[in-house]
Amino acid sequence: MNSGYLRSNDKSNSTLNPFIYMLIDKVFNNQQISFNEAYTLLSTDDIRTLAGGANTITRKFNGEVVDVESLVNAKSGSCPEDCSFCAQSSFYNTGISKYPLLPSEKLIEHARNAKKEGSTSFCLVCAYRSPPEKDFEQICESILKIKNSVDIDVNVSLGFMTPERAKKLKSLGVKRYNHNLETAKSYFSQICRTHDYQDRVNTGKIVKDAGLELCCGGIIGMGESPQQRLELAFALADLDPDEVPINILISREGTPLMYNNHLTAEDIIKTIAVWRFIMPKTILKIAGGREVYFKDNGRYALQAGANGIISGGYLTTAGNKQKKDIEMIKEIGLEV
Ligand code: SF4
Repeated sequence: MNSGYLRSNDKSNSTLNPFIYMLIDKVFNNQQISFNEAYTLLSTDDIRTLAGGANTITRKFNGEVVDVESLVNAKSGSCPEDCSFCAQSSFYNTGISKYPLLPSEKLIEHARNAKKEGSTSFCLVCAYRSPPEKDFEQICESILKIKNSVDIDVNVSLGFMTPERAKKLKSLGVKRYNHNLETAKSYFSQICRTHDYQDRVNTGKIVKDAGLELCCGGIIGMGESPQQRLELAFALADLDPDEVPINILISREGTPLMYNNHLTAEDIIKTIAVWRFIMPKTILKIAGGREVYFKDNGRYALQAGANGIISGGYLTTAGNKQKKDIEMIKEIGLEV
């Protein structure tokens, strides 16, 4: 445990410290903090104590291990949905490389490399509203082949699910299914008009009902208010996912959010820390945006509530080399 973080150097806000300690106790006693308490936490300037508290909660409930995951973009672009942040939407001209579903051999090669580089799980991600039947069958075959040839956890992200498809994925040995809520319910219509928030919640529930682990998070920095960031966190806590990815918007040329104002690194650290108070036991994974926003590549975030990272690149942007990330994790005294 890194209890040193619990000693604040910020004398000007020391009156807030008892409040933060009180909430740490509350979380340790398995009590949910309230929205107002979360908002007061988010408003603090005493970031050291806040981050230290989130770190203490992380270590208590999740130990020292950092979940390191690799992604492969198995089918890129031409998605019929209009999510405003997404370079893969067919609504926007973003200049990304588009391609149909990759063959099994390529996906096995990606999984092998991920394992070799030290990742503990591998996520096969496709840009669909939901895959056509032929593609779904091909994805199932690829999953079986990966499971038979590479010793790595296989996760998938394929868009909306039906109960039958979710059960099929479970029967193939898929561990976790990713489907994000993306943003707060009260902000969702500003971000997407081709489907609604409830469609996303429904897929989250279908995934859990099928016995798959649920990976469900969102993107911050899309113009939502701090309160809406908390609204999203409480909605995620209600769904009780095994993993919550926090993406930080990287504005992409050609998308409606290309001129969006950026969050500061401090806003992001505070959000991660407060999300940890709200969801003490989940894997809180820093996903897209880490390399852009954190000069230290996320070291501090991993000591401020996060206990997972995506490594080796994202769907349409490059990322860190896995080896470098694993060295960084060990340097700060954590494990993979
Ligand atoms: S559904 Fe997924 S892939 Fe399609 S536009 Fe939205 S975020 Fe992008």
